[in-house]
Amino acid sequence: MKSDIQIAQKANLKHISEVAKKLSIPEEDLEYYGKYKAKLSDELWEKIKDRPDGKLILVTAINPTPAGEGKTTTTIGLGQALGKMNIKSVVALREPSLGPCFGIKGGAAGGGYAQVVPMEDLNLHFTGDFHAVTSANNLLAAMLDNHIHQGNELNIDPNQIVWKRCVDINDRVLRNIVVGLGRKADGVVREDHFVITVASEIMAVLCLAENMEDLKERLGRIVVAYTYDGKPVFAKDLKAVGAMAALLKDAMKPNLIQTLENTPAIVHGGPFANIAHGCNSIRATKMALKLADVVVTEAGFGADLGAEKFLNIKCRAAGIKPDAVVLVATIRALKYNGGIPKTEFSAENLDALKKGIVNLEKHIENVQKFGIPVVVALNRFMTDTPAEIDFVRHFCEERNCEFSLCEVWEKGGKGGIDLAEKLLKTMEEKQSNYKPLYDLNLPIKEKIEIIAKEIYGAGKVTYDPAADSAIKKLEELGYGNLPICMAKNQYSLSDDPSKLGRPTGFTVNIREVYVSAGAGFVVAITGTMMTMPGLPKIPAAEKIDVDENGRIVGLF
Ligand code: ADP
Ligand code: MG
Repeated sequence: MKSDIQIAQKANLKHISEVAKKLSIPEEDLEYYGKYKAKLSDELWEKIKDRPDGKLILVTAINPTPAGEGKTTTTIGLGQALGKMNIKSVVALREPSLGPCFGIKGGAAGGGYAQVVPMEDLNLHFTGDFHAVTSANNLLAAMLDNHIHQGNELNIDPNQIVWKRCVDINDRVLRNIVVGLGRKADGVVREDHFVITVASEIMAVLCLAENMEDLKERLGRIVVAYTYDGKPVFAKDLKAVGAMAALLKDAMKPNLIQTLENTPAIVHGGPFANIAHGCNSIRATKMALKLADVVVTEAGFGADLGAEKFLNIKCRAAGIKPDAVVLVATIRALKYNGGIPKTEFSAENLDALKKGIVNLEKHIENVQKFGIPVVVALNRFMTDTPAEIDFVRHFCEERNCEFSLCEVWEKGGKGGIDLAEKLLKTMEEKQSNYKPLYDLNLPIKEKIEIIAKEIYGAGKVTYDPAADSAIKKLEELGYGNLPICMAKNQYSLSDDPSKLGRPTGFTVNIREVYVSAGAGFVVAITGTMMTMPGLPKIPAAEKIDVDENGRIVGLF
């Protein structure tokens, strides 16, 4: 069997200008990064912004197993299927982070015969957007420390600095560090922290900003620290906004690449869904909706994380609404949720499947709470047995939910025709009555409790004293009416990754709360979640290499 990268390297790529023609994008609006990648110009948006929107399909999933369960693969395969059916379609994805690429999961360009290409570029440096985000983030950090060193006119309390440095690598030793060691000229000594670039507020700002003006507004609003008398200090007080915007100018433009079957893919922005809001950029999604009749987009991890934030944060900020949701499930993940270890995925096990399918049931119910029609896509693995597939099919049909067996990993677009047809039929017959789950004007704690109880199935929410006082302070400062960006592990519906299936009555503990005023949300960190991941014992990086022909190997 060929690996993802082997399939991708055999792809028949078209020049990106040919791919752009499928969306009638004029050549003058393409900014080429080599032959197979282009950025879409700001002028393009001005030309298309008054067109009617196409249909929007959100792809999400049940709680994943450690390997990732195929949302990106399904999203791309569905785009390829729509392309085969001659429907003007585009997939709108996030850019991969180097963190998982070198860690456990590998790349994020899809898999099998449903991938976007060039996959090595996309997984490694692509068009440099993440470098721009990292640089803007760290420029702000450097200007902040320099301000204190140069006399601290703003009266910043070094013990109340909330801005952190970032790097797009899983690097656990940077979670807690000391900066400024050395002589007087080396700066003020203080404790500092790194987050991974995909958890940086700059990434969220890039993904939520409508245009350059809005980007600058948002950058200016970022709270970097508090003064000795507890007043917020903003990025604009440090006069950092213009230079940050300059660094982000090109990163603001969505990127166009193609699938293995030459269908267009707009790939832009990449916040993680467990420790950030988990969606591609608003600009990319909105552009896609003007350029195509059907847009397929993905939100990260399970529907408790990515979809919840897509629906409560992104759709609200962008003024868009999905017409249908695809809920991806795999027999392997359902059995894992039924309590069997990874080593037993391949053997038929209807008992484990029956036990674990409650996880799918909860996610179906959750999406229905937002008023959107759901289609379950069972991402088929070679080891799935007919009895197992039938069981899932009946389970969905009994719940009045469309079911499709999706074989895009093995067959590319033709393996997704059934899913595409069911979606088109669903969107024709069923109205999407999308509404967010909570009212923004509710107090912060009530919003957190609605998410924890309605989406996760929690019985109660508790708060560490620090979180409790942070909430009071944020409400006093006028941040009480923002949406909530929950940071939670992806493996369980609860804040404890070992509670699989459909746990109930558990307690969610909120450890830390802070405002991302530029992004426009309040972050609530649950359980033991960390905003800088670590590498596993055997990192995927150990297998990656460049061979004697200059070809990258071992990336998956
Ligand atoms: P997600 O977006 O949910 O994290 P991906 O689509 O990135 O998941 O897939 C994760 C990995 O699983 C990829 O390496 C992909 O090749 C593999 N994969 C996905 N679907 C299948 C399948 N049906 N059979 C075998 N491997 C698959
Ligand atoms: Mg993915």
